[in-house]
Amino acid sequence: MHILFLSTSVGPLGSGIGGGVELTLRNLANGLAALGHSVTVVAPTGSVVGVRKSVASMVGLVEVDGELHVPSQTLDRSTPLTVPRNSVLNNMWQRVVELSRAGDVDVVLNFSYDALPFVQASECAIPVAHLVSMGSLSDEMDSAVDAAFANQPHGVAMHSHAQARTFGSGIAQRVTIVGSGIDVDAYRFSPTSGDDIAFVGRISREKGINDVFAVSALSGRRVRAFGVMEDRAVWDAAVTAFPDARVEYRGFLPTSDLQRELGTCAALIMVHQWVEAFGNVAIEAMACGVPVITYDRGGPAEIVRDGMTGFVVPPDDVHAVVNALSRIGSIRRDRCRAMVLEQYSERAFAGRVAAWLGSMERP
Ligand code: UDP
Repeated sequence: MHILFLSTSVGPLGSGIGGGVELTLRNLANGLAALGHSVTVVAPTGSVVGVRKSVASMVGLVEVDGELHVPSQTLDRSTPLTVPRNSVLNNMWQRVVELSRAGDVDVVLNFSYDALPFVQASECAIPVAHLVSMGSLSDEMDSAVDAAFANQPHGVAMHSHAQARTFGSGIAQRVTIVGSGIDVDAYRFSPTSGDDIAFVGRISREKGINDVFAVSALSGRRVRAFGVMEDRAVWDAAVTAFPDARVEYRGFLPTSDLQRELGTCAALIMVHQWVEAFGNVAIEAMACGVPVITYDRGGPAEIVRDGMTGFVVPPDDVHAVVNALSRIGSIRRDRCRAMVLEQYSERAFAGRVAAWLGSMERP
C-alpha cells in the first residue's frame, strides 16, 4: 500500500507540542515501511519525521505552511474548535485531497484530532481512516467522530477500550482498537535503578502536575519531570502549593536521551486527571525496565498488570501512589521489558494497523 499520513495540526513533528501522536506517527511510519508499505507524511512546515535510515527511502514528507491550531484539550467542551485564518489544517487537507486524486495512493491515515478530516472525508478519492488520538473532549469533535463512524464504522480506530468508551457505548462496542507500539530496540533495558521517580508528559493540568508534586512531598522522593512546558501557570501553582516537593524539570528530550534518563529511575508515575487515550510513556518506561504506577483511569490501566509490571491505584489517591512506591522493589524489571516486546512492539502495532487499513474499501 501507499499510505498518506495527515499529521496533527497543533505543531510540527518533533516539537513535542503534539504529545504522543508524534511518536505514534513516527513509529507507524517506521513500522509500516518495514512491512513494505510506502508512506507520505503531510505535516506542518518544520516537521521532522525521524524515521530509521533503513526505511528512509520508503517515507516521504510534504511540508505545508499555515497557522497552527489550538490543541482541543486546552478548550472547554462546548467551545467550537477554532480555525485560524490561513489554517495549516485546511492547507494540509487540500494537499491530501490533491494527492488522493493523483492515483498512486491507496488510503489516507488521519492523525489530526480536528473535525475537518472527519466531516470532509468524502472529498478524497480514496478511503480515509482515522486514528483518534485522544478521548472525548469536545462536543464538536464528538459529532465529527459520530458522523465518520456512522458513515464508515470500519474507518475509525482508537488506542484503548477506555478511550473508546468516552465516545459512548455505540462506538465503544464496534470501533477498531489498535493499541500502540514502539521501536523496542531504541530503549535500552536497565536492570537496576537509582531512587528517583520519573514523570513524562506535557506539563499541563490534565497530566496531573499537582499530584506529581503531592507524591514527591508525601514520599520525600525526588521526581524528574520530562516534557514540553505547555502550561507554566500549572507548574508554578504546584511549586507554591508543595514547598517540600523535590520535582526537577528536565525539559523535552529526544527519545535517545529520554530513554537513558528513564532507565535510571525506580518508577514512572502516571497521575493524569483525564482519560488518557493510551499513554505511550507507559510502554516507553516499561521497555527500559521501569515499572509504572498509574491511576486506574484510561489506557495506562489497561497496559499495566497490577503487581507484575507496576501498580494500578484508585484515581486521585496520591497516598496510594506513595504506598505503591514503597513496594516497587517487588516488581521485576525484566518482566516490564518482556511485556512490551510481547504486546507493544512497533512491528506488532504496524501489523494491526496494516490489517485495518488493508481491509478498508474504496468509496
Ligand atoms: N516525550 C519526549 N520527550 C520528553 C517527554 C515526552 O519525547 O522529554 C514524548 C513521549 O515519548 C511520548 C509523548 O511525548 O511519546 C507523550 O505522549 P503520551 O501518549 O504519553 O501523552 P499525550 O501528550 O499524547 O497526551
